[in-house]
Amino acid sequence: MAKQEDTFKRVISHAKEYGYVFQSSEIYDGLSAVYDYAQNGAELKKNIREYWWRAMVQLNDNIVGLDAAIFMHPTIWKASGHVDAFNDPLIDNKDSKKRYRADVLVEDYVAKIEGKIEKEVKKAAKRFGEAFNKEEFLSTNQRVVDYQEKANTILKRLGKSLENEDLTDVKNLIEELEIACPLSGSKNWTDVKQFNLMFGTKLGASADTAMDLYLRPETAQGIFVNFLNVQKTSRMKIPFGIAQTGKAFRNEIVARQFIFRMREFEQMEMQFFIKPGTQKEWYEHWKAHRMKWHLSLGMGEDNYRFHDHEKLAHYADAAADIEFRFPFGFKELEGIHSRTDFDLSKHQEFSGKKLQYFDTEENKNYVPYVVETSIGLDRMFLAIFSNSLVEEELENGSTRTVLKLPAVLAPTKAAIFPLVKKDGLPELAKEIIEDLKWDFNVLYDQKDAVGRRYRRQDANGTPFCITVDHQSLEDKTVTIRHRDTMQQERVAIVDLKSIIHKEVDMKTWLQKM
Ligand code: ATP
Repeated sequence: MAKQEDTFKRVISHAKEYGYVFQSSEIYDGLSAVYDYAQNGAELKKNIREYWWRAMVQLNDNIVGLDAAIFMHPTIWKASGHVDAFNDPLIDNKDSKKRYRADVLVEDYVAKIEGKIEKEVKKAAKRFGEAFNKEEFLSTNQRVVDYQEKANTILKRLGKSLENEDLTDVKNLIEELEIACPLSGSKNWTDVKQFNLMFGTKLGASADTAMDLYLRPETAQGIFVNFLNVQKTSRMKIPFGIAQTGKAFRNEIVARQFIFRMREFEQMEMQFFIKPGTQKEWYEHWKAHRMKWHLSLGMGEDNYRFHDHEKLAHYADAAADIEFRFPFGFKELEGIHSRTDFDLSKHQEFSGKKLQYFDTEENKNYVPYVVETSIGLDRMFLAIFSNSLVEEELENGSTRTVLKLPAVLAPTKAAIFPLVKKDGLPELAKEIIEDLKWDFNVLYDQKDAVGRRYRRQDANGTPFCITVDHQSLEDKTVTIRHRDTMQQERVAIVDLKSIIHKEVDMKTWLQKM
């Protein structure tokens, strides 16, 4: 646990030190759970957004994009169920005065049991070596079977109580499991209460005529209310999807996990409109497809897992999360939800406008069903950033800090150094930059010894460093150094573009899907 906390602290301080993420309003002591993306962070975020957009919109001829406004008619949130049901169960600890999400307290308890299972698996894998069969071990080792059963029973009960809005039972569960406040160790809890997560605001100049609005808590509703407009103007036939990226706002009860849980964040969502009755097959399709997208970034299969929901949101008939191994354990990174015709039917009811599709093959009208994929851009940022940050022991006994970002997403693709600040080397380095900058984000650095400049770029996540020396003036070659292997090679300046391109080209990465 302490190690996990250290790793997470290192991630947060590295993000600040290298210009990725700053606390919002820092000079005024910050605003809780709100963050700003700095020079490198803004680039990384933009690259992740583009990687998603290309995979979803550009490469699927049946998915189109949308950019809906954040302000929407307030009745939308009544129709969608958010006014009545977008709540989290909160609980306060009477001694520490700290507020928690009751469901998260229980889930964290279960995560500890899962941690014990993982430990047993690791131990056994070591003991049995190559002969180890994980599946068999999980189903036959009595201790592990008992742990798993305990975890399942707890999650089932939590799911059921939340679904039935039985908040007394949620509190009973916390007490039966003897869950203590992580800060004070106290088990002195208040009752569990519901808390609505939407931020309210006002539209209009004068107080008496101003209209109450909400800041959208998800981007999806902008897609639902535009469904017919887009379908008609794009002449899309079902099945088809609408994708968008944009800000969402939630007044989260507990927001102590850096950019994992923010009050203002960005979502990348795609709603896929389908024929009723086909939802199971599309749900499975999008689960598999989204996992492939994640794996294409090469961050290790072991770091992802599916988690099927016991408790379904008010709109869903099936839901799963893609979970990622964050520095604080496996947590939700993306949700895949089968939303039935809930949203479109509700908007039809509340607006009085038909939101139906005429299926020419079936020769009938119907309200389409929807399967959605919903990922938090900031959470994806944290997944990539935390997984990429490593301390490496080198052969000479020293260590280096390196941010092994997937090269396709790195903010800066190459740094160009003149070996010394004279003899025409800076001029040649700048000439190279002039040529490369049309294709890639590149930077110039002439400060300090080359070794220190390498380290700086390692920590920055830059995949290539290019050094211009005296030989470069004579034969138009430079040294190119690869971030991950630290290998250096002498190459012709004219070949630089194709060498970098091969490693950072989005097409090559997306083709791994
Ligand atoms: P959680 O259970 O963690 O609160 P959720 O199930 O409410 O998440 P969804 O409503 O399914 O989340 O939202 C889809 C995605 O949006 C999530 O998978 C996550 O990546 C992202 N997301 C949701 N809430 C936040 C937040 N407060 N800060 C950052 N990202 C968020």
